[in-house]
Amino acid sequence: MSDDSFLFYQSRSPRPFLDHGEGIYLFDESGKRYIDGSSGAMVSNIGHSNPRVLAKMKAQMDKATFGYRLHFRTRPSEELAAKTVAMTPEGLDRVFFVSGGSEAVESATKLARQYALTQGQESRYKVISRFPSYHGCTLGALALTGYAPLRDPFAPMMQAMPSIAAPATYLDRDNLSEDERGLKYAELLRDRIIEEGPDTVLAFLMEPVGGASTGALVAPDSYYGRVREICDEFGVLLIYDEVMTGAGRTGKFLAAEHWGITPDIVALSKGFGAGYAPLGAIIAGAHLVDPVLDAGGFLHGFTYAGNPMACSAGLAVLEEIEDQGLIDNAARMGEVLMAQLHILMDRYPFIGDVRGKGLLTAFEFVADRDTMAPLPPEMDAYARLVELAYERGLIIYSRRTRGGTAGDHFLLAPPLIITEAQIIEMIAILRDALDAFAEETGLPVEA
Ligand code: PMP
Repeated sequence: MSDDSFLFYQSRSPRPFLDHGEGIYLFDESGKRYIDGSSGAMVSNIGHSNPRVLAKMKAQMDKATFGYRLHFRTRPSEELAAKTVAMTPEGLDRVFFVSGGSEAVESATKLARQYALTQGQESRYKVISRFPSYHGCTLGALALTGYAPLRDPFAPMMQAMPSIAAPATYLDRDNLSEDERGLKYAELLRDRIIEEGPDTVLAFLMEPVGGASTGALVAPDSYYGRVREICDEFGVLLIYDEVMTGAGRTGKFLAAEHWGITPDIVALSKGFGAGYAPLGAIIAGAHLVDPVLDAGGFLHGFTYAGNPMACSAGLAVLEEIEDQGLIDNAARMGEVLMAQLHILMDRYPFIGDVRGKGLLTAFEFVADRDTMAPLPPEMDAYARLVELAYERGLIIYSRRTRGGTAGDHFLLAPPLIITEAQIIEMIAILRDALDAFAEETGLPVEA
């Protein structure tokens, strides 16, 4: 951060000190209030400082904050696993805890590999992922991340893995229907499996709704079922990275439920601990886990994984999600938010697309809606709008998209507790920031 700090951050971008949070709001030390319009990085799903969660964490803290998993089973971890399975569609009934999203993705791929070994499939090791995508920053997860600026500097240190194009159909200018486009993108997977050699392909990894890299990218409905069929045809395991989409964010507990898909393994984090504790998990079918345990065990585990402190937080978070009906609220408020984004799109011709599912929504800037050409990169729109909103007390999340080469998208993903009135409040600030952006850049605004 600044030169007066011993702590080093990813880059030098000074931010004020956080003081406290309350519901959808955060306050800095000067008392300035911010709407947490992106739940941090799509994390704080149940809002800040939830008193019931804090009370449950405190009760656990008073008993034990840590017990090593090789020395004790703990009630919070077993109860959280049971609750997670109860909230998850049938067929996913074994849970393994980790402390974050990258860990969850790596754990999923390692479980897949060990399962393949129990089936005598030593030749299967390739994990196909999509481009663009984001799956984490540890070397294993980064090898599967389709985002060149983050990945390229480390490429020589990683196992190269195949990838296929993510279904960014909003950029397509062909004469196909959405359904046909979905199938077209799914066939890329089939082609790639055949090209790589089916007996070398272990798994296909995808975000059901794209997150940081693609900005709430939802594929056409036809995509999801066809991908599942293709994986089944070749005995390739289907891994859903629901680190961002899971725990109710899209209006279902898992985004997979929107399309009736049962992945073989699901990675969860972010909203699962909801910012109360570093927590993540993989969920898999017993048919996949049992052979691994029978063959001697999962050769994997992080020291802090499944600690009772984090698991008591996770359990309390899931109880709040259930008791407050937050998954339904995410679905309902997602519609309200999407309608508001469409109104903004009418006003600002430089918004080329709005998209999303539930309360994972995004809008993307373009120079030209017909060609979907991005704004000039030197405009730094993705960073500039974030600043203008931040100054006005609204936190939004942005990335330069399309593989890091061009394009600016912004994620709006408030806590799932948000009300309609708060969405209107958030949109008013955003509109003010967009007006300021248009004025600075000279981009047109419709009256
Ligand atoms: N997968 C997805 C889909 C993510 O959005 C993220 C975080 N942005 C990760 C994995 C990595 O999670 P973490 O930062 O907790 O390691």
